[in-house]
Amino acid sequence: MTRIAIGGFLHESHSFAPLPTGWAEFVKPGGFPPLQKAATLVEALRPTSCPAAGAIMMAEQEGVEIAPLAWCFANPAGPVTAEAFERIAALLVAALSDALEAGPLDGVYLDLHGAMVAVGFDDAEGEVLRRVRAVVGPDVPIAASLDPHANKTALMVLHSDVLVPFRTYPHIDMKPAGAEAARLLLRMIRQGRRPAKAFLELDYWTPLPGQCTMVAPMADVMAERARIALAPGVWELGFCFGFPYADFPGCGMAIAAYADTLGQAEDAAAALAAVIAAKETEFALGVLPAAEGVARAMANRDTQGPVILADTQDNPGGGGHGDTTGLLAELIRQDAQGAVLAPMNDAEAAALLHAAGEGATVELDLGGRSDGAPLRVTALVERLTDGRFTLTGPMGQGNPADLGPSALIRVAPGVRVVVVSRKMQAHDQALFRHIGIEPAEQRIVAVKSSVHFRADFQPIASEVIVVTAPGPVVADPAVLPFTNLRPGLRLRPGDNRRTG
Ligand SMILES: [Zn+2]
Repeated sequence: MTRIAIGGFLHESHSFAPLPTGWAEFVKPGGFPPLQKAATLVEALRPTSCPAAGAIMMAEQEGVEIAPLAWCFANPAGPVTAEAFERIAALLVAALSDALEAGPLDGVYLDLHGAMVAVGFDDAEGEVLRRVRAVVGPDVPIAASLDPHANKTALMVLHSDVLVPFRTYPHIDMKPAGAEAARLLLRMIRQGRRPAKAFLELDYWTPLPGQCTMVAPMADVMAERARIALAPGVWELGFCFGFPYADFPGCGMAIAAYADTLGQAEDAAAALAAVIAAKETEFALGVLPAAEGVARAMANRDTQGPVILADTQDNPGGGGHGDTTGLLAELIRQDAQGAVLAPMNDAEAAALLHAAGEGATVELDLGGRSDGAPLRVTALVERLTDGRFTLTGPMGQGNPADLGPSALIRVAPGVRVVVVSRKMQAHDQALFRHIGIEPAEQRIVAVKSSVHFRADFQPIASEVIVVTAPGPVVADPAVLPFTNLRPGLRLRPGDNRRTG
C-alpha cells in the first residue's frame, strides 16, 4: 500500500510589522484550526477548507495510507521567532522520523504558505524543505501546496519536486490546490519519475490590491496561465504573486513550471512571464484616503446593498494587528449612518466590555494597541459573545473561529464596532452575523482586509472602496525601508527605478 506523510507549517511574515509571531500564535490562531500533532491532524483538518484537507481527501479517495506529521498556521504578522520556528520544524521532523521508523514512506506532502520569514532563516520554507529532504533522502518525492502570496525561491524549488500554488485571490481554491499537489505526488510515486523544473523570478512587484484574481489584470493573467498549462508535457505551471512586505532577496513574483522535459518547462514559464510583463502598467493602485472613502460611501448610501470600505493598511491577513482606529475615527467624524466596522482586535477593551455587561455604557480607549493610537469612545454595549463561530463564506466554509471574548458596541449614533480578543481578517460574513449583524442590511460595512473580503462581501455590495488609513500593510509597499532585496527589482509597476 502506498504511504505518504502529510504535514504543514504556514505563515506569511511582514518584515516591518510591529509584533513578532511566536509559538502562542500558532497554538491558537484566530479563524483557523489550532496546532495539530500526528494523533489529531487528520480528523481536525478533514472538515476544513485548508490545503491539507485537499491532500487528505485525495489520499483517502486513492486508498493511500496517511502518516500524519504536524500542522500549524498563524495569522500574518512580524517574522516568526527563532524559538517558534525551531520548535515547529522539530515537531515536523520528529514526526517524520517516527513515520520512517514505522515503515517506508513513498512521498511527502507539505501544506506551506511560502512567505514565512523566521529569525535566522529569511527563506523559512526553503529551510523547512531542506530539513525534510535531508531526512527522507533524494529518492522520496516531495510535493507542497503554496499560497500565491509565497515568495517562491530557488531553494524551495530545489528541495521539492513540485510546488502547487492556489490560482485565486481571494483564496477560494485552497483545498483543490492541496488535492492537486497530492495528485501530482501520487503520479510521481506511481510513474516512478519526477518532472523537470524551470524557475523564473520576475523583475517587478505588484501591490496587494492589484493582485485580485476576480478583476483585471490578474483575472486575464490567470486565464492565460491556465491556457499555457495545457501545453503538451506540462504537469504544473505555478505563478506566485509574492508578498511584497518581506525584506530578503527571494521576495517578489515568481514562476515554477514542471514538465516531462526541461524544454517544455522552460517554454511554459517563459510564455507566462511574457504575459505578466505585458500587463505591467495595469497593476497600478486604485485606493482612496479614508476621509474620501467615507465621504463617497455616505454619498452612495441609498443604493442597493452596503458600501464596503476595505481598511487595507490594517489587514490582519497582511501583518496588520486589526486594531488601528483611523477609519473608525473618520466614520465617527463624518457622522456616518448605518455603519459597522469589524474586527477591532483589542482584548483589553473586550474584557472591559464583558465586565460592564450588555446594556452598559462604558468610556474607554479603543484599539491602537499596536501603534499607540487608541480612540477615546463612549461605548454602549449592545451584545456580548465568546467569539466562537463557524465560517460560512467561500474561503473558510466549515473552519472554526475562536476570537475570544467579543462585543458589539455603538460608539456613535450611526456607528457600531465588533470588538474581538484575537485577530482574523474580515473575509467572512459570519464575523458579523455571529454577533447579530446582517451585513446586507447595513449601509456601510468597514472591513479589515485588502482583497479576501471580496469573495463573501462583493456579492452583497453596492460598491467596494479600498481605503487607506495609517497601518503597517501599506498599499504601496515601495515606501517601506527595505535593505535586503535582490538587485534589479522594480518596486512599483511601471516604475523604471530598480533596487541597487
Ligand atoms: Zn495569500
